[in-house]
Amino acid sequence: QKENQNMNNIDDWVAHYRTFSKEGKNASYIPALEKVNSSNLGISIIGPDGTMIKSGDWNVPFTLQSISKVISFIAACMHHGIPYVLDRVDLEPTGDPFNSIIRLEMHKPGKPFNPMINAGAITVSAILPGQTPQEKLESIYLLMEKMVGKRPSLNEEVFVSEWQTANRNRALAYYLKETGYLEIEVEEALEVYLKQCSLEVTTEDIAIIGLILAQDGYHPIRKEQVLPKEVARLAKSLMLTCGVYNASGKFAAYIGIPAKTGVSGGIMSAVPPRVRNEEFPFQEGCGIGIYGPAIDEYGSSVAGVMLLKKIADTWDLSIF
Ligand code: GLN
Repeated sequence: QKENQNMNNIDDWVAHYRTFSKEGKNASYIPALEKVNSSNLGISIIGPDGTMIKSGDWNVPFTLQSISKVISFIAACMHHGIPYVLDRVDLEPTGDPFNSIIRLEMHKPGKPFNPMINAGAITVSAILPGQTPQEKLESIYLLMEKMVGKRPSLNEEVFVSEWQTANRNRALAYYLKETGYLEIEVEEALEVYLKQCSLEVTTEDIAIIGLILAQDGYHPIRKEQVLPKEVARLAKSLMLTCGVYNASGKFAAYIGIPAKTGVSGGIMSAVPPRVRNEEFPFQEGCGIGIYGPAIDEYGSSVAGVMLLKKIADTWDLSIF
């Protein structure tokens, strides 16, 4: 792991933006997420040559939550092919919160608008290969192992906490069952979906996944194409247009990097090798993983979004 001198002020930025965590609140609808230290803030940046920058609470584990939607979508596309998956879930942003139900009924026959909102993600989890929830989950474990190099552990406490309080996700799943988009039993689909949300990672893990996406599916450290280029591009386009739900437009306008947020406070970003600022030490692109559990009204880390914006502004990282 090489140190990079140009980014020494990252530590100062983390210290600075950490103080803004109090403008947000830990997710409370999942009781186990409410009690973690809300002033945590950490970041990992990884380049294709293995250069890494890490700061703050980069190594504090947190659960993937909605970041897992990108991984399950990729796994489903790799198993079934893209057209099969897109027959069951669309590619359109909703402008609604992640757990919204309204558009499922507004537009018959009720196809979920995209796989980044809960309705679409539950639909995708249900079509993962295998018969049982455990078999379906296994395809996520395998893909994570391929990308991150290790099998993530399941945070049982977060899973049980969410399982017991998942009334809204159950409502979405029952609706999808009624319209025919949910192809397995409601409780089984929820088990897959909520378990994938409860997989534990650090900022380093999601930075590596972001890096692989930035490299169009090529794992530059393993020197292997771990997912097809078309699937990586589709995932990034969904992250950009739908990854932050009803804040995706603002996120694209003000930050301009494909990213996926989760209610535990994680942000996974893919910075492509397209930069104009020569001082940026990752000219070949990078993955950025951030964790800060105090979230805003859209379900994204308050301090984390500020830190990412600072980085994007400083080095002209917007893809636009
Ligand atoms: N597990 C969470 C849920 O389904 C994920 C939501 C999120 O991270 N935005 O409500």
